[in-house]
Amino acid sequence: MATANVMDKIVSLAKRRGFVFQSSEIYGGLGSVWDYGPLGVELKRNLKERWWRSMVYERDDIEGIDAAILMHPKVWEASGHVSGFTDPLVDCKQCKNRFRADDPRLKGTPGEPDGQCPVCGTKGNLTAPRMFNLMFKTFMGPVEEVAAVVYLRPETAQGIYVNYLNVLQSSRQRVPFGIAQIGKAFRNEITPGNFTFRTREFEQMEMQFFVKPGEDERWFEEWRAARMQWHVDVGITPSKLRFHPHAPDELAHYAKAAFDIEYEFPFGWHEFEGIHNRTDFDLGRHQEHSGKKLEYLDPVTKERFLPYIVETSLGADRLALVALVDAYREEEVEGEPRVVLRFHPAIAPIKVGVFPLVKKDGMPEVAMRIAADLRREMPVFYDDGGSIGRRYRRQDEAGTPFGVTVDGQTLEDQTVTVRDRDTLQQTRVAADQLRAFVRTRIAG
Ligand code: ATP
Repeated sequence: MATANVMDKIVSLAKRRGFVFQSSEIYGGLGSVWDYGPLGVELKRNLKERWWRSMVYERDDIEGIDAAILMHPKVWEASGHVSGFTDPLVDCKQCKNRFRADDPRLKGTPGEPDGQCPVCGTKGNLTAPRMFNLMFKTFMGPVEEVAAVVYLRPETAQGIYVNYLNVLQSSRQRVPFGIAQIGKAFRNEITPGNFTFRTREFEQMEMQFFVKPGEDERWFEEWRAARMQWHVDVGITPSKLRFHPHAPDELAHYAKAAFDIEYEFPFGWHEFEGIHNRTDFDLGRHQEHSGKKLEYLDPVTKERFLPYIVETSLGADRLALVALVDAYREEEVEGEPRVVLRFHPAIAPIKVGVFPLVKKDGMPEVAMRIAADLRREMPVFYDDGGSIGRRYRRQDEAGTPFGVTVDGQTLEDQTVTVRDRDTLQQTRVAADQLRAFVRTRIAG
């Protein structure tokens, strides 16, 4: 596959099949904001539900929360986002485009006569770099004044930190324990692009694990390994996953250690999850700025301490993009080309396609009954249009792992054929066993 246009093909498939649409497309689109269509919403939900299950249901030391997007503006002063969440930017006064100061396409020195705009090509019209805050600002209440400024949260983590004592006191947790949250975050990114990789509105799945100082390094290692394994279990190709440890000069101001999990996209290796040892930076800052004691009192040892935090921070949209890109294949089957999305069955948007071989002899009625039975448990697509080969191809493109065909034999012995998307093997299964047959294969 030529890498140059694989992304184009994936973007076009995503639109054609209803995974991802550009936001407000009929108005020309809104920059770097995307909507999920009927298949995309299922893919993303499956990923989020799987993450939630592994964090919140399968462990007894993690609780879930759902904090509001709008938070007290002082939160963002304490977190360092008001002063520090900035990128240096350069404007072209000629064509009005805006660039990050480290954009490799810029030539010469911005602010000087030799500074050249990479879009319109004029020289001497680039401004010197200026700091630009990435947080979206809005106003709360009826008056648009400075005192009413609030921000759309740029990360979900802070909603967890400010609720840490509430969760501790209302659940029966003790340190070490974690809080998980899935929710929207907003960043006014300057160089967005690569489809849904970097967007201005996105969803994060974050888990903050509170530990005793001194035990942070052990927990960091544990979470680092667990998070990589999670991606492998979701079916992502292991050779396309790697860790990127942050060198000391790359570390964020709050972090003692950080590893990114990177995926090899057609446009290169890029982060899609971060695991950070944030020390007691966050709770320390909130304690200082709010004036509220956030220390933990160990009920057994009677020690008081500010917990350290090990964070796992994953973008739901970026993970969905990883899943989509990783699943995409162009293959040849019986001399014919096919495009197939080889999703792990557990995350596939539709689990089963149901097809009557022909539209007569009572086959559609039997197939509809089978589809209705399966629908009680899973998303199903019923299709009686076109040749059976075309119907299979349509479901291959949607990533549907199983195709069930009702044929002449079904009417005689109540069995159906189940076609496997990946091996193309056909198995005859009794219709009344079908639900159990598929259920065991999509679990995981
Ligand atoms: P980057 O360096 O790519 O801007 P970051 O290091 O700022 O990312 P974090 O703040 O650690 O990212 O966010 C954690 C995760 O949230 C990222 O790994 C990514 O999956 C997701 N994420 C962050 N920014 C965006 C965005 N603009 N669009 C989509 N997902 C994002």
